[in-house]
Amino acid sequence: MLDEAVTRLPGIGPAAAKQLATLGVRSVRDLLEHYPRRYADAGEVVDLSAVEVGQPATLVGEVIDAQVRRIAPKGRTRRDIAELVVRQSGGAVFRASFFNQRWMADRLAPGTVAAFSGKVGEFRGQLQLAGPKVEVLGHVRAGRSAEEAAEDLRHQRLLPVYPATGALPSDRIRTFVAAALEAVGPLDDWLGTELREREGLVDLDAAVRLIHTPEHWDDVTRARDRLVFDELLVLQLGLQWRRRRLEDGMVGLDNAPAADGWGARLVDALPFAPTGAQRRAFDGIAEDLALERPMHRLLQGDVGSGKTLVALWTMLAAVDRGRQAALMAPTELLAEQHLRTLTTLLAPLGVNVPGGVRIELLTSSTTAAQRRRILDDLADGTVDLVVGTHALIEDGVRFGALGVVVIDEQHRFGVSQRVALKDKTASDGDGPDVLPDVLVMTATPIPRSLALTVYGDLDVTVLDELPPGRTPVRTTLLDPSAPERRERLYDHVRRQAGIGLRAYVVCPLVEPGESGATSAVDHHRRLRDEVFPDLAVELVHGRLRADDKEAAMRRFREGEAQVLVATTVIEVGVDVPEATTMIIEDAERFGLSQLHQLRGRVGRGADVSHCALMASQPLDELTEDGRARLEAMVATTDGFALAATDLDLRGAGQLFGRRQSGLPDLRLARIDRDLDVIGRTRDLARAVVAADPQHEDPAHATMHAEVVRRFADDLEGLEALETG
Ligand code: ADP
Ligand code: MG
Repeated sequence: MLDEAVTRLPGIGPAAAKQLATLGVRSVRDLLEHYPRRYADAGEVVDLSAVEVGQPATLVGEVIDAQVRRIAPKGRTRRDIAELVVRQSGGAVFRASFFNQRWMADRLAPGTVAAFSGKVGEFRGQLQLAGPKVEVLGHVRAGRSAEEAAEDLRHQRLLPVYPATGALPSDRIRTFVAAALEAVGPLDDWLGTELREREGLVDLDAAVRLIHTPEHWDDVTRARDRLVFDELLVLQLGLQWRRRRLEDGMVGLDNAPAADGWGARLVDALPFAPTGAQRRAFDGIAEDLALERPMHRLLQGDVGSGKTLVALWTMLAAVDRGRQAALMAPTELLAEQHLRTLTTLLAPLGVNVPGGVRIELLTSSTTAAQRRRILDDLADGTVDLVVGTHALIEDGVRFGALGVVVIDEQHRFGVSQRVALKDKTASDGDGPDVLPDVLVMTATPIPRSLALTVYGDLDVTVLDELPPGRTPVRTTLLDPSAPERRERLYDHVRRQAGIGLRAYVVCPLVEPGESGATSAVDHHRRLRDEVFPDLAVELVHGRLRADDKEAAMRRFREGEAQVLVATTVIEVGVDVPEATTMIIEDAERFGLSQLHQLRGRVGRGADVSHCALMASQPLDELTEDGRARLEAMVATTDGFALAATDLDLRGAGQLFGRRQSGLPDLRLARIDRDLDVIGRTRDLARAVVAADPQHEDPAHATMHAEVVRRFADDLEGLEALETG
């Protein structure tokens, strides 16, 4: 029954089925999983006779008249009022009125049975509710009388309100769901009694019935607790089983760092001491590296927390074992930047000299001859470290012995990329496939709950401490209503330039476009010719040729240019300590995490830095979200706090587009609220998969089947799961 079409249910014909399909509801099961969006608490349902003027009440009745009236008070704008006359079952009549909602008269046409909640008033001697909350309960044509509706409401105070469409309102969905609940027998539970009791959860059948027809708020809570647990457990089991399948039949490498190896010597030679967080990261990673099981770890740290050092230290462990390591960056610019940083850090140990570390850069700008040489040297193992873009794993690049892979920025690295890695290392043919140790770095601070959800199959290390001596960036918010402040800002840039400091100016667009947003090309011309004719102003954006981009960056880095106009190409990783001013044009157009990353480009040296957020409109004309984002930026520099705000403003689904995250829909679970359940289900899933990887125990087999069913087309790499 569950998997049959909704048309199997009484009362659902092809037309209704078509409407339901637009809500993603096709099967009976879909209907049961079409959970209420919220509940209308009908409160005490009363008769008119019991009503007191001035008190809130819920009145049920049938609309007998619906009109729109237009009033035009002198000297004021005209307003429409929708006025209803509603008759209760006993025949008593009251009025309901809605200002400037003329559509209410259509929606609540005569014959509609509805509950009206609000404060009771009086108008021309008649009881009236002005602007009440309305809950449509049915229509007399559909055989629903006001008596029946009122009686039902007395039994069920909490009315589920469903995601609905204009043609298919919530109250009809409510009757469809009721039919479904009646048609299905008790639902099988995919969780065993023991587990359920241990977790204090109601059984599945009870949960599904309670979520749709609760009598008390307590019922909603119990139902939700169970269904949220299910969603998150399915997710965590899916991620764990997927990882297990992928690693099945493959071995990892013992890449334990040598006691007096390259990593130890690197740390000794540093001009600073690693932070506590960096040391903890070394320890956690060292344990993973030593295991035969391939490492798959996420290194999460705010901008400037020192991830590069941790990455290099990890890569050097491979070199200790006579193997190679690769660092993959999302763009060429960043690959070049990483190469420079690694080279600087490695300098005391010797780079590309006999007895030192051999490091190469491989990108699409590498010339053919160079490329051939590097590929040869990678294949025979003479190159120790290679930095590049995705070309590193996508092309026909072969390594003599690839031990460690570091990936900068996780979004573009999924299961299939990890699978591709197994072919990168020459193995002797008969032996099992070798999977290198993988460290994924992200500068996007992710609230812990989200990290555990999205990266449930990764181990997570957090660098939660910034190196000492950083001065927080001062952030100000400016809008076009105060042009003199822009002038002052430019004076500031000029003064800073006079003492060798530099400024970034970020624009949302490359070329002028329809949106009217500031384009980098235009703004560059303006700043260069009109505002700063005395300074050198460079331009970088994604459409420039790689060598032009690099040349502009170099001039800025070396101080030949004092102002760099850019698009978000500089969002990640660009590191110029003398840059102390960041101006972001049309700042409200950027996402919060983007703004945070951009601001992370300044404040990297000892000097006090400033970030100016230029709104394109007066602040009180911005959208609420846009304004909230900018204000959050002014309020804090803490990336984790901003990420939490972002999660709040946008919801997890948008933070991580579905395809990007490869996550199944979470319907009831809320990443920002259900941290506790996320942690519990994660631990449980790990224990189940570790104890019984092949799900031989019948209880686990049931769980596995449920995971495969629910993930359907959602989880990237599901094939790996199913062939299990
Ligand atoms: P992230 O990649 O996390 O944004 P980086 O690795 O680029 O940060 O480090 C930012 C800057 O901090 C670099 O200039 C780096 O050399 C420096 N740095 C890293 N670790 C420390 C430390 N423990 N003490 C002082 N400076 C550090
Ligand atoms: Mg970095």
